[in-house]
Amino acid sequence: MTMTCPKCQSNSVEQKRPAEKVGAGLGAACGGVTGWLGAVKGAAAGAKMGLAFGLSGGPVGSAVGMTLGGFAGGVTGALTGIGLGTVLGSEVGQRLDSTVLNNCHCQECGHRFSSGTSDSG
Ligand SMILES: [Zn+2]
Repeated sequence: MTMTCPKCQSNSVEQKRPAEKVGAGLGAACGGVTGWLGAVKGAAAGAKMGLAFGLSGGPVGSAVGMTLGGFAGGVTGALTGIGLGTVLGSEVGQRLDSTVLNNCHCQECGHRFSSGTSDSG
């Protein structure tokens, strides 16, 4: 999609998306924390399963099984949370960029405007 300056109708318009980046970062952080907290349950379940399987292999087997089970549960949950949070956060940021902020900058006349508005100033 090509942006046109509402003031001078120039096509050389620079589009910035600060909120999208901030949103993606915030989403990743929130999603990571949420995913990690949720994964604690999964890690506990994984550790129990690993312990049960590992018992047949003696104390070393149970320790290895518990570690692997807990690690797999925790990492999977955190990664899933970060991925979901990034997608959601950047989506929210994109809407902010297009509606709230003057994210478009005309390189011909220096006019700043929002991509979501169509005012002819
Ligand atoms: Zn312009």
